[in-house]
Amino acid sequence: MEIEIHLAKPEDRKAPNFDKLVFGKIFTPHMFVMKYEEGKGWHSPKIIPFSNIELHPAAIVLHYSQTIFEGMKAYFGVDGKIRLFRPFDHINRLNRSADRMCIPQVDPNFAFEAIKTLVLLDKDWIPKQKGSALYIRPFIFATENTLGVKVSHEYLFMIILSPVGPYYAEGFNPVKIYVTEEYVRACPGGTGEVKTGGNYAASLKAQAVAQQKGYTQVLWLDGKERKYVEEVGSMNIFFYFSDELATPALSGSILPGITRDSVLKLASHLGIPAKERKISIDEVISAIQEGRLKECFGTGTAAVISPVGEICYKDKPYVIGQGQTGELTKKFFDYITGIQYGEREDEFNWTVVLE
Ligand SMILES: *Cc1c(COP(=O)(O)O)cnc(C)c1O
Repeated sequence: MEIEIHLAKPEDRKAPNFDKLVFGKIFTPHMFVMKYEEGKGWHSPKIIPFSNIELHPAAIVLHYSQTIFEGMKAYFGVDGKIRLFRPFDHINRLNRSADRMCIPQVDPNFAFEAIKTLVLLDKDWIPKQKGSALYIRPFIFATENTLGVKVSHEYLFMIILSPVGPYYAEGFNPVKIYVTEEYVRACPGGTGEVKTGGNYAASLKAQAVAQQKGYTQVLWLDGKERKYVEEVGSMNIFFYFSDELATPALSGSILPGITRDSVLKLASHLGIPAKERKISIDEVISAIQEGRLKECFGTGTAAVISPVGEICYKDKPYVIGQGQTGELTKKFFDYITGIQYGEREDEFNWTVVLE
């Protein structure tokens, strides 16, 4: 399939100053759009000037949330090259999300071509400062017009791009997290392991409660027993106990993060014993009390690594590593960002150079 390209007006294509970037607030001049119709399949891929879209008020996505997304980044390297980080892992995950939500999959090579073409067209919008990047948001949603609950016969696949600033503008600050016992984000058999809109809508209330209590993120426990740690906010979570690095095993309700996988591979490369297993909140709390929990961090594309300095459980705060960023946490952050910005050899073949 050929992507038809309609360019934005030259005055709209000039990149602004990237001084104070707030996550996901500004967008590049172009976007990718492709339609799906039952019987015709995916067709008419286009890159067009960024604009609002029109939807029928009964579009299925607005009522029943048949929608999926991905989040990845393009980095401007120290060598002037533009790199994507594990793009095919993101595209393959988009297709796994599609399968779970009864959305038609996309051809991975074509999706990559679409991302590449769009990023290169708007490459002046990739901020150059280390730590900043161009956030890439591919998403697919149901557009058929009906109030009946059913699998849509029509979809839009879109890609939009947003320049984002360094996550840690004021240094690498550990976050304080709040264990919610009242709410769960996902349960066995549900949709926790895919990136679909409803998961995030369901998490807002707990996030609001945590924020009211002065915490930045929610620590989610499993939906069945409310005993085992699952994720933190929309990141995966790691614990560095005295003799082992551990992260919750993928249970079906945990999102299989690509950063999570990168940390696991890196740990093994660095000779650090790492385990995917069940981790109960009681184990975490006793490890903190006995001084055995050395470090704790979240992982995700947005922040890469987010150190955790305090956990609040049953309304009691527990401080980890004096509330400071741990050595191993910092090491993972430096190593992975080093690869993303082309400062370090990519021995894992994680990056794809676009230009
Ligand atoms: C996207 C996401 C993650 C992190 O995945 P990455 O591939 O590392 O960006 C973790 N948890 C949830 C709920 C997510 O949506």
